[in-house]
Amino acid sequence: MKAVKFLSVVFIIISVVYCFPGEKSNAKLDDGINAIESVDTYNFCKELSSSRFAGRLTGHEGYTAAARWVADYFKKWGLKPYENEDGYLQAYQSPYVIIDKAEMTIYADGNSFPLTVEKDFMPLLYSDSGSNKAPVVFAGWGIKAPELGYDDYAGIDVKGKFVLCFRGVPDRFDRRFTDHDQHRHRMQVAKELGAVGLIYIYPDPQANPNGDFIKGFTPALISYAAADRLLKEKGINASLMEDKLRNTKKPQSFSLNAVVDYRVQSRNFPDGIGYNVIGFIEGSDPELKKECVIIGAHLDHCGTHMGLMFPGADDNASGSAVVMEIAYAFSKMKTRPRRSVVFALFGGEELGLEGSSYMAEHFPSQFTKIDSMFNFDMVGEGDRVGCGLNANPPQFEKNLREANETLYTLSDVHYLKEIGVRSSDFAPFYLKGAICANLYSNGPHLNYHKSDENIYRINPEIMADASRLVFIAAYRWADR
Ligand SMILES: [Zn+2]
Repeated sequence: MKAVKFLSVVFIIISVVYCFPGEKSNAKLDDGINAIESVDTYNFCKELSSSRFAGRLTGHEGYTAAARWVADYFKKWGLKPYENEDGYLQAYQSPYVIIDKAEMTIYADGNSFPLTVEKDFMPLLYSDSGSNKAPVVFAGWGIKAPELGYDDYAGIDVKGKFVLCFRGVPDRFDRRFTDHDQHRHRMQVAKELGAVGLIYIYPDPQANPNGDFIKGFTPALISYAAADRLLKEKGINASLMEDKLRNTKKPQSFSLNAVVDYRVQSRNFPDGIGYNVIGFIEGSDPELKKECVIIGAHLDHCGTHMGLMFPGADDNASGSAVVMEIAYAFSKMKTRPRRSVVFALFGGEELGLEGSSYMAEHFPSQFTKIDSMFNFDMVGEGDRVGCGLNANPPQFEKNLREANETLYTLSDVHYLKEIGVRSSDFAPFYLKGAICANLYSNGPHLNYHKSDENIYRINPEIMADASRLVFIAAYRWADR
C-alpha cells in the first residue's frame, strides 16, 4: 500500500512538472480537438477515392460531383460560402482529355515486344488520338536551350519520329533551366521540330495529366526496362545513359534503328470547367476578419482512362479529408479566432496548379490580405507529418511546434526557399507573400499515381494527427 501511495505521489509530481512548463493549454480548443476523429478522415478519404468520383479528373463529371459533395458538407457545417447563398464553387476553364485505348509495341533487334499499360508504358493523359509506327531518336533531357549553350536537338533530325528522353535538366542546381523542365514546354519543342510524339523514360510509368492537348502529337511514358530494349543496339542501358548525361552535363543524342508502334484513342474536351470549393469561418475581430488564414488541399487526381481508375487515395483524397475534418472542427468552436479561416479544395493541381493559381488571382473580395496558408498534399501514408514552411517570421514555426507539443507527430521540418516545377498548391499564395506551411506524411507513397494508390494503403491515424496539428496551429495563428 505504502509503495503504491508513494508511487502515486511521484506520478502526480511528475505530471505537474511535465505539463506546466512551456506547454500551452489546449482547453480553449477542446470542442474542436474532440470533434476530430480518425474514422471521419478515413471515411472522407474512402468516399473521395471510390469509383463514385471516377478518379476526380478536373473538368470531368466525376470531379464536379466530388466538388459538390464537399460543398454540401461545408453547407451542413455552417461554413460561409465565398460568394453568395450557395456559392461554394469557384468555376474556371479546365480543358481535359480522356484516353480510351492505347497500345505500344517496340521493334528492336529483330524482335517485337508488345508493352503492357501501366507496367511498361502509359500514354500521357493529354495525348491526341493517333497511330504511328516510327523510328526513335534519343534526345537526352529533350531540352533545346541554345541561349544557355545547351541543345539536345543539335545535329539530330526528329521529323516524323518519336523523341525518347528523360525528364530533368542537365544541371539541377542551375535554375535557368527550370522553364525548360515544364512538360508543356518540352512537348511543344518536340512538336515544333516535327516529332510525332515524345516518350519519357520513367522509373515507373504513372498517370500524368499535366500538359496540353497538341493536335497530331502522341506523348507517352515508358519504363527503364522498356527503354533498355530500345537502347540495346547502342550497347548501353537507360540507367547508364542517365548517369552519362548527369556526369558530362553535355548532350548525348543519337538516332536508333529501333521502331515504336504506338496507337492511341482519346477524346479531347476543350470546354471543360474546373472548380475550387471554398468556404470560410468569419473572424471575430471587426478589423482583423478581413485578413485570412487558408487551409487547403487539392481535391483533383488523374481520372479514369483505358478502363483503369486512378483513385488517388493518398494524392490527395487524404489531404482533402484532412481539410474537411479541420473545417468540421472549426465549426464546432463556440468562439471564433480573430482572423477569418478560409477552407479551400482546389481543382487542377495535377494539371499544373491550375485551381490554386486561379484562386490566388481571383481571391474572394471580402478579404484584404492573405495572411498565411496551410497546405496538405499526400498525408495518408505513414506515421509522421513533415512540413516545409517559411523561415520568417520565426513565430510561425514556433506556433506549429507548440501545437505539436501534445501530439508528437511532427518531424522533418525544413524551410521553403523557392518555388519549383514540382511545388504544390501553396506556391501561388507563397508568391503573393503569404506565410506558408506545406504538410505531407512520411510515406512511403510507393504507388504514387498508380491505379492501386487506393484506400487500403491509408493510415487513418496519420490523417487525424495532421488534422489536430493544423487545427490547433491554425486556430492560434488566426487568433493572434
Ligand atoms: Zn498531389
